Amino acid sequence: MSLASSTITSLRQRLVSKEISPRDIVQDVASAIQAQNDMLGAYLTWNVEKALAEADKADLSQPLGGIPIGIKDNINVTGEPCTCGSKMLAENYTAPYDAGSILKLRASGAIPFGRMNMDEFAMGSSTENSAFQVTRNPCDLERIPGGSSGGSAAAVAGNLAVATLGSDTGGSIRQPAALCGCVGLKPTYGRISRYGLVAFASSLDQIGPITKTVEDAALLLNALCGKDLRDSTSLDVTVPDFTQAIGKDIKGLRIGLPKEYFISGIHAGVSARVKEAIEKLEALGAIPVEISLPHTDVGVSTYYIIAPAEASANLARFDGVRYGHRSTAANDLLQHYQLSREEGFGPEVKRRILLGTYVLSSGYYDAYYLKAQRARTLIRQDFEKAFESVDVILSPTSPTPAHKLGALKDNPLAAYLEDVFTIPVNLAGLPGISVPCGTVEEDGIQLPVGLQIVGKPLDEYTVLRVADAFERA
Ligand code: GLN
Repeated sequence: MSLASSTITSLRQRLVSKEISPRDIVQDVASAIQAQNDMLGAYLTWNVEKALAEADKADLSQPLGGIPIGIKDNINVTGEPCTCGSKMLAENYTAPYDAGSILKLRASGAIPFGRMNMDEFAMGSSTENSAFQVTRNPCDLERIPGGSSGGSAAAVAGNLAVATLGSDTGGSIRQPAALCGCVGLKPTYGRISRYGLVAFASSLDQIGPITKTVEDAALLLNALCGKDLRDSTSLDVTVPDFTQAIGKDIKGLRIGLPKEYFISGIHAGVSARVKEAIEKLEALGAIPVEISLPHTDVGVSTYYIIAPAEASANLARFDGVRYGHRSTAANDLLQHYQLSREEGFGPEVKRRILLGTYVLSSGYYDAYYLKAQRARTLIRQDFEKAFESVDVILSPTSPTPAHKLGALKDNPLAAYLEDVFTIPVNLAGLPGISVPCGTVEEDGIQLPVGLQIVGKPLDEYTVLRVADAFERA
């Protein structure tokens, strides 16, 4: 088995026993990229020399010592590009500092290696909104890998990376992990520093790992968590050893099944796989409990007001003055702003900025933004109430398997609706994981299905415990 297709756990054992070196792993990942990235399009850029130099200095006594990690291209790593999948940052931006999450990775001995393709500014669910290249699903090259962390998921599933970081604002870690057949964890809002993550919607964004196994996700989470004084929303709470959740039983754990989630409209194969997953968990001793999340129907519309509102404010900084694309065609200052943004942003980003500016504008603020904030509170309260009687909540991660490239290109609304199960988790700030739960056949090809497990605030431990028990079963 190639090193790039191994888990962190197994590589660490072989590193510690000196059977392999960090250099061997970087070289193996580099050759996998060399051989297959033209086909998959998962990486935008990668610097082998830099990673090898870091590999030679890796501290093997650290828990992630010598492990290369692919980084979504919206997280700053000193001296590397950070394009956010946008022309806006393509030519003239090099990260001058390490993000908080990158400093944590380094402190654990890991080596940031490679920049993963993504939907522009993390807006999308297919990675087709990248300004640079298409990323393909390793299970079927004619299909999307999901998004916006599509490069991060495709690389892990296609064995071009051991593990990667993604970011999740409305599903962008969990959904591509589900569609590619790997594990994707979005921690509780505030668990991991957002310092150095280019902001999309600041009240929703969270960084997290995409891995081959639940245990690897626990290992990465251990490294990434903790208060960062440079991110005022990062939480100063104790960080348990998440690897202790691995290998535990789940007897007596109450599993909430929201009745609003198991309705028509879900792909029949996805429904069937999730039902089988529930039976499996029951066989392991978990107790299914029907619950209600009554405001599920307003989740998507609430998100598509709040996220664009925050994005329109966050993206105002790309004005072609301090950094970002600068138009050379402008004759005056106003034109300078207009043309720089017109040329630099792609269509989906423009759509979000327009939506966000509209819902925040005077006369519409109360009708849209304020109302959405109220709906967000109701959604959060739904979860609070449900968690009085259950330990975790289960659902499909995505209502459908990966669709064909281009299938939803002209139908943004249909694409937004695909986020129905992931978005409420961000609105409520909860931890959620996607684990593979089988496949469905389309055109003779097996496409992965993801099971989403959502936990109470800061209870990643139980989420990982259930996910791991399921994965082993
Ligand atoms: N698909 C959602 C969107 O387009 C979520 C993206 C994300 O989580 N970054 O906004």
